[in-house]
Amino acid sequence: MAILVLGGAGYIGSHTVDRLVQKGYDVAVVDNLVTGHRAAVNKKARFYEGDVRDKAFLNQVFDKETIEGVIHFAAFSVVPESMAKPLKYFDNNTYGMISLLEVMNAHHVKKIVFSSTAATYGEPKHIPIKETDPQVPTNPYGESKLAMEKIMHWSDVAYGIKFVALRYFNVAGAKPDGSIGEDHSPETHLVPIILQVAAGERDQLTIFGDDYDTKDGTNVRDYVHVVDLADAHILALKYLQEGHDSDAFNLGSSTGFSNKEMLEAARDVTGKPIPAKMGPRRAGDPSTLIAASDKARRVLGWDPQFDDVHEIIKTAWNWKQTHPKGYDDRKEN
Ligand code: NAD
Ligand code: UDP
Repeated sequence: MAILVLGGAGYIGSHTVDRLVQKGYDVAVVDNLVTGHRAAVNKKARFYEGDVRDKAFLNQVFDKETIEGVIHFAAFSVVPESMAKPLKYFDNNTYGMISLLEVMNAHHVKKIVFSSTAATYGEPKHIPIKETDPQVPTNPYGESKLAMEKIMHWSDVAYGIKFVALRYFNVAGAKPDGSIGEDHSPETHLVPIILQVAAGERDQLTIFGDDYDTKDGTNVRDYVHVVDLADAHILALKYLQEGHDSDAFNLGSSTGFSNKEMLEAARDVTGKPIPAKMGPRRAGDPSTLIAASDKARRVLGWDPQFDDVHEIIKTAWNWKQTHPKGYDDRKEN
């Protein structure tokens, strides 16, 4: 029986595929490589290039493989882009989920672990954010993911497809041996952008806003290491295999770091000056996102190994230094 990983050539997906393979799972990957990299996929996993929204293609994969459960990463996830192009997000993310669940149901595959996000909560009323708190997204990306959670809920009610929604906070870092890491183009996430400045690829960091109601005026986020996150998916899969009901879990460290603090931590780790300037707020950004993540620890037995942002940044810097051009597989347009 195989685990099918949709979006397994992406940043988080490729680390999860790698951990699954290390733990002895039989793994198949579906990815259309729109933002992912073929070279990121562990060679022991079977790879199918195609789109989640293409039901004929997906049916072929489900016919060929004997799939026990699905882990679903295949989505767009750039907040500012979603503000400008909401329909692109509802089409790829939300419609992609409908397509996948239809094919899963037709093939009697009843377990799905899903990449959800802190962006489904929007601007929280209190910190830390609990799983039971209201979900009121402030951007179309978060809205598209919340819709996906709701679609899974009703598919559970109707078809008995059990799901675990993992609501990630801010994911960073790379496999400690530096063999896989984060490579997005254009890069939009804070940690890799800071490291691009450290590496001399960008002149400076622009911090988006210093007039928030936070300790130093800049946004506060909760960072989790990508390998710890990958392991949470495997625990969620086991949880479903044990016959538990559908549920949602936050994945974070329960500690918040401001954008200025992240910059300082990166200066410490890299020993580089990393020039930075203040810029205006970025549309759609909540002020502070910190997870209550005790539920994942208690119920799933999640035990993250990286609890310090310096360690997280160190692994990302190792990847950056050993792969200055990322996977170096850019397609010519
Ligand atoms: P990513 O862009 O690196 O990975 C997404 C992968 O899905 C890529 O390989 C892409 O090619 C593939 N894909 C996208 N649309 C597809 C489609 N229609 N058919 C087939 N493949 C498709 O992103 P990531 O940072 O690894 O994020 C993975 C998931 O985690 C996303 O769903 C995102 O919403 C969620 N998430 C990420 C973060 C973060 O900090 N990176 C935080 C919260 C949630
Ligand atoms: N950020 C920033 N400059 C950048 C990129 C990001 O100040 O060049 C900020 C962003 O406004 C947010 C934080 O860094 O406050 C984390 O942003 P990211 O896009 O990494 O993740 P998000 O929190 O949007 O999921």
